[in-house]
Amino acid sequence: MAVHSLRKRLLVGNWKMHGSLQGNAQLLAELKQGAGSALACDLVVCAPYVYLSQLASCLKGSAIAIGAQDVSAHAQGAYTGEVSASMLADIQCAWVIVGHSERRQYHAESNQLVAAKLRQALDAGLKPILCVGETQQEHEAGVTHSVIIEQLRCVLDWPLSDLQKICVAYEPVWAIGTGLSATPDQAQEVHALIRAQWPDSIAHTLHILYGGSVKPDNAADLFAMPDIDGALVGGASLHAHDFLHIAAA
Ligand code: PEP
Repeated sequence: MAVHSLRKRLLVGNWKMHGSLQGNAQLLAELKQGAGSALACDLVVCAPYVYLSQLASCLKGSAIAIGAQDVSAHAQGAYTGEVSASMLADIQCAWVIVGHSERRQYHAESNQLVAAKLRQALDAGLKPILCVGETQQEHEAGVTHSVIIEQLRCVLDWPLSDLQKICVAYEPVWAIGTGLSATPDQAQEVHALIRAQWPDSIAHTLHILYGGSVKPDNAADLFAMPDIDGALVGGASLHAHDFLHIAAA
C-alpha cells in the first residue's frame, strides 16, 4: 500500500472576506446535505470570525469542521481587534489558517509572527494550517525551494508532539485567485520538499495541502500526486457544487 493512502484526504474551504448570514445559511445547508453522502475526505470550512458561531450552529451534527482564517499571536490582553486562539476553541472552532499569503502580503506578517500565531493555536488545542508559498517574482527567479525552507524554518526545531499537529498548505502566491494553478508536477516537487524537511519519524503523517486555483476540473490530477493530501480552496469553496465536486475528486 502506498504511504499516501494512509493519510486521509483533507479539503479546507477558505471563504476569505465573503459571506452574509443569509447566503451562508444556504451554502452551509447545501454543503451539509452533500457531505452527508460519506465522502472519503475530511471537510473544513474557514469563515470570517463573525460567522463562526453561525457555522457552529448550522453544521452541528454534520461531519464538516469549522476553522478560522487567522488568530492573534497573543493569549489575551489589550490587543484591540484581535481574536485569541482560546476564544476560537471556546466556540467549537477546531482549525485555523495561519500565515496565509494575503496576511503576509497585506498585513506584513513575518515568519516570526506566523510562528507566534502557530504557537498560540497549538497551545489552545486548535489544528493549525501553516501556509507557505513563493511569489511570482520568486518563482521566476528560481528560488522557490529556499523561500519555502525559510518559511518552515522557525518551527522545524519544535517538539515532535507539536509538529505532529500541524498541517502545511503549499500555496504558490502566483496561483491564488488567478486561475493559474501550479501543474501537478510543480506542486508535487514542492510538496516532496516540504515533507523532506519534517523529522523522518513523523514525515509520513504530515498532511500537505495544495492551494491555488483548485477547481473541480483540476482537482483529481493534483490529488493523484503522492505528496498532495488535499487542498486549501478559496474561490471554489463559495459554491457548494464546486466544493463538493472537489471533495469527490
Ligand atoms: C486561498 O484562498 O487560499 C486560495 C487558494 O484561493 P483560490 O482557490 O481562490 O486560488
